[in-house]
Amino acid sequence: MTTTPDDAHVQHTWQLTHDNGDEISIDLWTDGYTVHVDGGPDNGEQWEGGRADVDHLLTKYRANGYRLARDYAVNDPEPHDEPVEDDDPEPDGRPERCPECSAPVVYDPRFGDEFREGAAWLCTGCKWGQYLTA
Ligand SMILES: [Zn+2]
Repeated sequence: MTTTPDDAHVQHTWQLTHDNGDEISIDLWTDGYTVHVDGGPDNGEQWEGGRADVDHLLTKYRANGYRLARDYAVNDPEPHDEPVEDDDPEPDGRPERCPECSAPVVYDPRFGDEFREGAAWLCTGCKWGQYLTA
């Protein structure tokens, strides 16, 4: 019997307490959707609805007199690969001047608006911008 819980699979834990001494521990696993409950009326139960299930359970337990004692991150979730490419060299093909107003053109590797996002050449004079097709 081990006294050290194996929590390598746990991403985040919520701990609730009740005035009668009951304790509930809700674990969200690192897969992002498995929710496991220890203690309380759902002891040993498991769901697969992620944070939505956690919110649902917290609401339910609070309605039953439990209080959230603490919650804490156990392990980081699986890393999402967001490539960090701060040293992107400027690609070839920058226009000498803006074709619209002839002002100088600058390169912005992270230009974005509500419609598009990506590398762009931007005019310093008007709003012209040409997106690179990567
Ligand atoms: Zn321009």
